[in-house]
Amino acid sequence: MRVRVLGCHGGETPRHRTTCLLIDERITIDAGAVCRSLALDEQVKLDHMLISHSHMDHVKDLALLADQVIGRRGHPVVLHCGPETAETLSSSYFNNYLWPDFTKIPTPQSPVMLIDVHEPEVSFRIPPSGVTALAAPAAKGKRATRGSAAATKKATAGKRGTSSKKGSSKAGAATASAPMAHGPLAEGEYQVQFIPVTHPVESMAMIIRGTTGSILYSSDTGPTTRLWQLANKVTDLRGMFVELSFPNHMQALADVAGHYTPQTLEAELKKVRDRDDIPLFIYHLKPTFYEVTKNELAALRLKNMHLVELTDEFAF
Ligand SMILES: [Zn+2]
Ligand SMILES: [Zn+2]
Repeated sequence: MRVRVLGCHGGETPRHRTTCLLIDERITIDAGAVCRSLALDEQVKLDHMLISHSHMDHVKDLALLADQVIGRRGHPVVLHCGPETAETLSSSYFNNYLWPDFTKIPTPQSPVMLIDVHEPEVSFRIPPSGVTALAAPAAKGKRATRGSAAATKKATAGKRGTSSKKGSSKAGAATASAPMAHGPLAEGEYQVQFIPVTHPVESMAMIIRGTTGSILYSSDTGPTTRLWQLANKVTDLRGMFVELSFPNHMQALADVAGHYTPQTLEAELKKVRDRDDIPLFIYHLKPTFYEVTKNELAALRLKNMHLVELTDEFAF
């Protein structure tokens, strides 16, 4: 699984882009920097987008992307999200006021975008390229809405984590009870599990399993428990992308807004088993407080930690 960083900040300036990760050229996590970072031909190749929550810094490029790929694709871009995010996208975004309803354009039968709703913790699959069916198999509790529906990394943290994981006898040895151990995947297939975290709106962390292992993405969150409980059961976890937004002196705001500070992160990581073995990738720093937050993060001296930068690429 290759992860290319298109955006990794909690705000935007000419040097900062909001959150967006590209997986194997055809899937994104969130949509904060799709259009700024990808050429038009690359945008057209996007088949699936995993949308963690409805905040604008994570969905803003859905609008321009829809407009730009219309007429250039044979099937919809599938937006995978939780129930509340789906409702917000339908009622407040693609509502023909803020933006045209691209879930019905050019026709309701063959729209540009299709919203696929997933219940918390119910795993679903993203099919290999060329398979246009909705994420399958249909999982219990999943419903479609809206018209149908080991790591090699350029950064040193990833390299260290990879080598240690490759040498681990645990790698790939999923147990029957593990939530992500739902059978083998075909080449190019992925399994995804959304896990609700702590934020003013529904926000879904996610664990994404590919044929070479799993990665975790925290989404925007304050202190949380269930995510780490489930992460501790994933035996092939190759990397964790975890948000961190504010410096420590803004702890009160971070708590209200549902975000981490460095001291929050330090406390949260105590919930993670075998933390030092798993590469930790920190993203979502606010540009306004970037330097002070970065310095406080460095002072934690976390093993196997990398502060994500634009243009980073990772292989898991
Ligand atoms: Zn948010
Ligand atoms: Zn955000």
